[in-house]
Amino acid sequence: MEKMKKLDIKIFIIPLLLITIIFIATGRMVFDSVREHYYHYLNQESVKLAQGYSHSLAKASEAREVVNQLLEERLIVAGDAVVLYDGQYNNELFARLANILKVDEIDYYEAGGKLIYSNLEELIGWEAYEGHPVYDFMKSNELSRIDHIRRDSITGNYYKYGYFKVSNGGLVQIGVRADKVYSFLDRFNIQQLLDEMKVGEEISLIYFMDNDFNIIGSSDTHMIGEKFKNEKVIPAILNNEVYSFVTEQNGKMIYEIFQPVYFEGKKIGTIAIVKSLNNAETIIKQLSVLGVVILTVIYCLVLFIMFSIYKVSGRLFHLAYYDSLTGLLNKHYLRELINEELKKKEDSKKAFLFINCRHFKLINLVYGYDYGDEILKALGERLKTVQDNNRILFRYSADRFVLFVKNYKKPEELISISKEITGLFNNSLVVQDIEQLLDIQVAMVEMDRYRYKDIDRVLKDASITLSYIKSNDSKKYAFFNEAMEKKLQREDLIEKEIRSIILNEDDKKMYLEFQPQFDLRSNKIVAFEALARMNIPTFGFVSSLEFINLAERKQLIVPLSNLILKKACDFLKDLTDKGIDSVKVAVNISGIQLLRDDFISNIMEIIKERGIDPSRLELEITESVFFDSYEVINERLKRLKENKIGIVLDDFGTGYSSFSRLRELHVDCLKIDKNFVVGISQKEEDEIITGDIISMAHKLGLLVVAEGVEQEEQKTYLMKHGCDIIQGYYYSKPLSKEEAIKLVFSKN
Ligand code: C2E
Ligand code: CA
Ligand code: CA
Repeated sequence: MEKMKKLDIKIFIIPLLLITIIFIATGRMVFDSVREHYYHYLNQESVKLAQGYSHSLAKASEAREVVNQLLEERLIVAGDAVVLYDGQYNNELFARLANILKVDEIDYYEAGGKLIYSNLEELIGWEAYEGHPVYDFMKSNELSRIDHIRRDSITGNYYKYGYFKVSNGGLVQIGVRADKVYSFLDRFNIQQLLDEMKVGEEISLIYFMDNDFNIIGSSDTHMIGEKFKNEKVIPAILNNEVYSFVTEQNGKMIYEIFQPVYFEGKKIGTIAIVKSLNNAETIIKQLSVLGVVILTVIYCLVLFIMFSIYKVSGRLFHLAYYDSLTGLLNKHYLRELINEELKKKEDSKKAFLFINCRHFKLINLVYGYDYGDEILKALGERLKTVQDNNRILFRYSADRFVLFVKNYKKPEELISISKEITGLFNNSLVVQDIEQLLDIQVAMVEMDRYRYKDIDRVLKDASITLSYIKSNDSKKYAFFNEAMEKKLQREDLIEKEIRSIILNEDDKKMYLEFQPQFDLRSNKIVAFEALARMNIPTFGFVSSLEFINLAERKQLIVPLSNLILKKACDFLKDLTDKGIDSVKVAVNISGIQLLRDDFISNIMEIIKERGIDPSRLELEITESVFFDSYEVINERLKRLKENKIGIVLDDFGTGYSSFSRLRELHVDCLKIDKNFVVGISQKEEDEIITGDIISMAHKLGLLVVAEGVEQEEQKTYLMKHGCDIIQGYYYSKPLSKEEAIKLVFSKN
């Protein structure tokens, strides 16, 4: 089976994937923006913090500067004093001097860097090593140096030290405990401020450094006096930028921010705040989770809506492309399929088989529409059995189905499929206990890319083929061919002309010719057969067989026959007017006319209207009309005879009537078909048959006319066998009205 058209899942999958990607990306963005916002918030906070405390920090740093200077001065004074005692140093002297000079520590180092004397006994014996400030100073050319406040290497206390060179390469170190000094200046204590700042904040460390990168206050007191050394941060600080970064420290995430602190337009240092991000990360995570949860809810909602749309669309799709009665694919689907197939450039063979059920409308009319629907369902079910991988069945319209066939090799395969289809209906369908023998026709239209550019042409050709089949009773299936189309166009034109002829009673386009019938005994014209002629200027002559047949199919035969009958009556009147009152006029009658209830009244009316003698009118009917309703028609013939109208059984021998039946028929005359007459000169047996027909007819009291007599020997034979009347080219072709009258005068 052809890959069935389905609701394209791609229409949903692609947006779904897009939506999923968008949601994931949004989720990520939410996470990132939450984090970014949080860091921004931290940044803001620290800026506020720094700004809020900048005044105090400035004061504190100023105060610290003052203290520093005071201490410096004190160290210088004390140094000058201690240097005076050079050469007399001992521990007791240092203890006394320390007391007097109000310093906390006085040490003497010998040239090697070993501490020899000190007021603090525990220090004695300590040795300065490379990299230590004492060692540095010793190796320098300076005579004295005042150091920054720093931690003492041994005691761990904060000191501000001064170093002074003495004789023999020795040096004196004098120290003042900074923490003691700070306690005097509580109000300006940076340390205290920093501690205060820390309160209530998630600050794990806060420190402040001066413009020379000396850490002068820190919540971690171990840092005080150290130099800030981070190479990455220093350039930013020198540029007075706010600098922040996130890093990992001991397995924990921290956020570090450096904020320059200004006071009255002057940078007084930099505050560094280190925040643990452990809490922050939880907040970020929580916020992100919340965001993701909201997104997921929205996502699920969108999914649900899409799924609902998909389901509804699926249902609508089914409604749009399937026929609800038979469950088969419908017309819209077929139209799309045909359009798609027309666009394809592949070479495999494809065809559409239009399956028509003739007289289905009648079933609807007789049994009702519900019953009709049941029939269509059963019909569809039966047709479904011809479907396979290369054949798809559609219900195109009420009683019309279409089988799309592909990948076949030869047109003969389509014929066998058509036979298979029509064969399916050799047995009648039984619906609601009523048997219905369906008349199924198949029009085969092969896909031809050069002929078909659009679907309408395909459908048109299918209709042409179906109407061709309809006009050929013997056919159940046919291929479309261009001749059919031409025929149909021709028929269409002729039909239009017939209509206009009927409407205008046109004498030029439609007129009668009259073929004389000779009595073989008297050798006189006893009758004329009126033969209709159609001549359309742009078109030429149209054979009477063609237009009569067309008029019959297009339900135009009754008005057309009336017109012909009127013209025949006019001719009869002309004959009478010319004094010819023994010659009859025979008019051909179509079976369809005979079947109509108003047939007799119609004829009688015309006869009356034209004022002619009914006994001079003959009607030629063919045997085939008895086929349908023998009783009714025979009854009608009887009534015509009662009205003195003569009845001729035309084309005798081609139909099915037997002599036994002929006995009951209300006819006066029997017209032996041309084919028997032709046979006279050709076949031995036919001669015998024709002779037998004549004698049998005579036995039934019927007159015998032989038509199509062309040759002398035919006439001779007919005469010999007692035929009454002959008609044919041997005597005369059908003649115009005037010629006919002339002929009567010359012969009779
Ligand atoms: P038909 O009734 O059998 O008419 C005789 C046909 O044989 C006429 O053809 C006539 O021209 C032709 N014919 C006459 N003599 C000869 C002959 O010696 N040899 C040959 N080969 N043919 C001869 P036409 O006029 O073409 O009519 C064909 C048929 O059309 C008629 O067959 C008749 O069935 C139908 N038809 C003609 N006119 C009318 C009409 O007015 N009404 C109806 N209902 N049918 C008509
Ligand atoms: Ca005839
Ligand atoms: Ca005939």
